[in-house]
Amino acid sequence: MNKAVRKAVIAGNWKMNKTPAETTEIINAMKPLVKDADCSVVLCVPYVDIHAALTAAEGSNIEIGAENCHWEKSGAYTGEISADMLTAMGVKYVITGHSERRQYFGETDITVNKRTLAAVNAGLTAIVCVGETLEQREQGITGELVAMQTKIALGGISKEQLNKIIIAYEPVWAIGTGKTATADQAEEVCAVIRETIAKVYDNEAAEALTIQYGGSMNAANADELVSKVNVDGGLIGGASLKAEDFSIIVKAASK
Ligand code: PEP
Repeated sequence: MNKAVRKAVIAGNWKMNKTPAETTEIINAMKPLVKDADCSVVLCVPYVDIHAALTAAEGSNIEIGAENCHWEKSGAYTGEISADMLTAMGVKYVITGHSERRQYFGETDITVNKRTLAAVNAGLTAIVCVGETLEQREQGITGELVAMQTKIALGGISKEQLNKIIIAYEPVWAIGTGKTATADQAEEVCAVIRETIAKVYDNEAAEALTIQYGGSMNAANADELVSKVNVDGGLIGGASLKAEDFSIIVKAASK
């Protein structure tokens, strides 16, 4: 495996946090701290914060993403936002299949696939989240489960379109809990995801794909996690709400 061919991506997931005014404040504080990053820097923010985020990030190396998108282009889907609406605003990334959406909003592998296809077809880069619950880890089915989630999420995505895909391995038991997977656990599952891509596509596709770890990654543990050969950066929840902490993670991924 050649980590050097892949550029790491550090993406924040703000979840349901921050107003537009607070968005401007955080991004203004982050800009000078991450300006020398040797990795991609992305902030996925609530829909209502996108305009403020794009404005504050203009001219910087921070790119803006959304936290979800619908699979239809338009129509009678009250409360939903389409991928085309996001690209029209200047958004470049979108998270699909976050475990909080799977857990609280009935997201399934099938709807994750539909959202991922819509995102890629609209020109967005989809950050596709996969990961096991604690129960599933204890059952010893993590590898199989994550491989299956990955295959279903990428159904209909061509090899050429994989440059618009990032997979985020996020063990559900580590999200927002302060419990982080060990670097070896993260590496093991990210390697399974890469092997799955090699089987479904080919080795070249697997080598090129960015695979992140997410789950309580913070300023203290990022270094060790992102040093692993199959871990190409991170999806960061809580620590992405603090400019200083986020910038330390960005620096770790820039080494
Ligand atoms: C996430 O929301 O994707 C996440 C990893 O959250 P946290 O870093 O807070 O665990």
